[in-house]
Amino acid sequence: MAIFRWMFARVLPDQAAGRLLDYRIPESMTSSIGVGSRVRVPVRTRLLTGTVIEVLSSCEYDTVRDISQLLDEKPMIRPALLELARWMADYYCCPLETAVCSVLPVAVRDGRVSVKKQNSVRLIAPITEEQLEALSRKAPRQADALRVLIKAAGPLPVSTAADQAGVSDSVYRSLEKNGLVVIEAGVVARNPYSERFVANAELVLNSEQAEAMLAVREAMVKPGQPILLFGVTGSGKTEIYLRAIREAINHGRTALVLVPEIALTPQTVERFKSRFADMQDNIAVLHSHLSEGERHDEWHKIHDGSARIVIGARSSIFAPLENLGVIIVDEEHEGSYKQDEAPRYNARDMAVLRASREGAAVILGSATPCLESWHNAQTGKYRLVRLNQRVDDKSMPVVRVVDLRRQSRSTPEGGILARPLSEAIEGRMAKGEQSILFLNRRGFSTSMICEACGHVCQCPDCSVSLTYHRAAERLICHICGHTRKAPKSCPKCSDPKIRFAGMGTQKVEEVLKKIFPKARIARMDADSMTRKDAYRETLGAFKEGKIDILLGTQMIAKGLHFPNVTLVGIINADLGLHVPDFRAGERTFQLLTQVAGRAGRGEMEGEVFVQTFTPFSPSIQFARHHDFQGFMEQEMEFREKFGYPPFGKMAMITLRGTVRERVEFSAQTLSRKLKAAALEGMTIGEGVPAPLEKAKTYHRFQVSMRGNSSMLLSRLAKETLQTLTMPEDVFVAVDIDPLHLM
Ligand code: ADP
Ligand code: ZN
Repeated sequence: MAIFRWMFARVLPDQAAGRLLDYRIPESMTSSIGVGSRVRVPVRTRLLTGTVIEVLSSCEYDTVRDISQLLDEKPMIRPALLELARWMADYYCCPLETAVCSVLPVAVRDGRVSVKKQNSVRLIAPITEEQLEALSRKAPRQADALRVLIKAAGPLPVSTAADQAGVSDSVYRSLEKNGLVVIEAGVVARNPYSERFVANAELVLNSEQAEAMLAVREAMVKPGQPILLFGVTGSGKTEIYLRAIREAINHGRTALVLVPEIALTPQTVERFKSRFADMQDNIAVLHSHLSEGERHDEWHKIHDGSARIVIGARSSIFAPLENLGVIIVDEEHEGSYKQDEAPRYNARDMAVLRASREGAAVILGSATPCLESWHNAQTGKYRLVRLNQRVDDKSMPVVRVVDLRRQSRSTPEGGILARPLSEAIEGRMAKGEQSILFLNRRGFSTSMICEACGHVCQCPDCSVSLTYHRAAERLICHICGHTRKAPKSCPKCSDPKIRFAGMGTQKVEEVLKKIFPKARIARMDADSMTRKDAYRETLGAFKEGKIDILLGTQMIAKGLHFPNVTLVGIINADLGLHVPDFRAGERTFQLLTQVAGRAGRGEMEGEVFVQTFTPFSPSIQFARHHDFQGFMEQEMEFREKFGYPPFGKMAMITLRGTVRERVEFSAQTLSRKLKAAALEGMTIGEGVPAPLEKAKTYHRFQVSMRGNSSMLLSRLAKETLQTLTMPEDVFVAVDIDPLHLM
């Protein structure tokens, strides 16, 4: 009997406009090709890269062309992930090829980076002290080179060893000639976290944690109901994550941990790696700071099965792990889980979907779950597991609201630090304790405004004012990056009375230096943390007590854990509150709670100061009293009244183009067509200017859609857009379950 083989393949080219094309599989490829294989195929006169979506035993066309090339020895996309991509294209209203491409990192997809063949070097035999000493007299650089190898206790890439020893590669070749080391060609994984961690033992669970673990174990045996782990900051959620992972590993399964990009710090990675010190080489870490080569290697480590635990940011939800036991989504409420380009998926929701398809448990953890998840827990779709107490019964920090309206603004500090806060900082410094100050706005001042004519320096390409950056003496647009020299006088009326309005972290830093000349101050924001290691170094110095005051943007709000921090100051709590977005209150509440949670994590009690001009706004008051439940009740009421999520579903279609009238007209036409085709219960908005009317030279208009089902909204959008021909210079983006309405 002949061995049955697939003869034809259905291929989705990466640039295909959704078309699927059939090809014959040449004899030579039949044994290795499969669904998910990456191939090169002829399309008209060109060769295109694509993915095999299906394999077929027959073909309905008479003449089909051959696949030209098979790019990998085994399929790159597992069928389960291909299915996920299909679902994603459908739900999030994007072309299938966009969804398929997003499950493969670029570094892997285009095959540009390949495995790194590198020479590695190791000792032939142990080196004695005497040998080393003799050598350091004769050839000190060779001795240095040897010391690195002795310390490494294993082979190292030659270039790495040479870097560490501060010598050139040739020194190792001399050592090789002397018969002390061997240099071998080999594949070396670029391991971005090559340090070794000391094992950290399991903690004895408290009773709440023990109960939470019972729920987790049940979910692993009988998956289906996601767990919403609602635990106040400092309640020990990480211990639950670690145990859940161990549980999966012990059962021969794998584990995937998602954390927000911004919280994917060395500190976080270390917490996981040190618990699994016994299997460090089986842990892969994926985040945006990796080089293409590193990402490629980490991905292959997962693909070939050697990584069994993956820690990563949003896109790691597509990590090709097999036999998944558990998916953990930390800080599930985080907006950064939503991708802001097509496919506009939310990794948290994809985690729930992927887990249910692959029979894995899923744990969504947060101290401030989003309303959608809370609603799911209340309706029984999720199982609510609570950790109400801080570990060791530490109390929640005391939160003091400072009413900025009643503070004197005539001080030289310009009312940036009100007296109660600056006195509190002073007090901490006297006691040798540390403070964290938070302001969610970088730069020096938010705008330059002319006192004579009222002119505000605006970005020419976006509808926002330019931010003044002191160090460079420049104005910078935070939307598009446009930059120009800061003017000395008003560009419009030439009056020299042009001044700075609003404040950013740079200004606060300057004020701090003035008030506390002796303090050791560090600033962490996107401007000060441009170097790769800056983040790690600053946090390291802070941990060692070499910094008194750490000032920063949301970069410091998440996941950091410093026992000696007893004071947290929020410079301006109003920043996110007065924006045209129904989630503004929710975000402010979450942010205040998260930031406040940085205080008092050690033995000492924590104190939080919240400076605000609107002290009685509900988000601030509920956060002040650590009253999550209260906040939820009132926020749910508001959402229900207006039919906002989680009660109704939303989609937002944004159109952009360089000619305003054409964009406006297209938006209005689209709105009209959608209205005509809308099903019962759907509401379609008018074509109106977006809150951010102009960005990167493009004029922007929006059409909102509301209804009971996101999937139905998505279908309506897709079908309607297919019947419409947009002007060539008008671009359309469909966002299902949008988080940002700007
Ligand atoms: P969360 O993520 O809920 O904010 P963490 O997981 O960071 O809280 O835990 C806070 C601190 O409590 C950490 O230092 C952690 O090591 C410690 N911790 C957690 N569980 C226990 C426990 N059962 N016994 C002792 N310490 C614990
Ligand atoms: Zn701009």
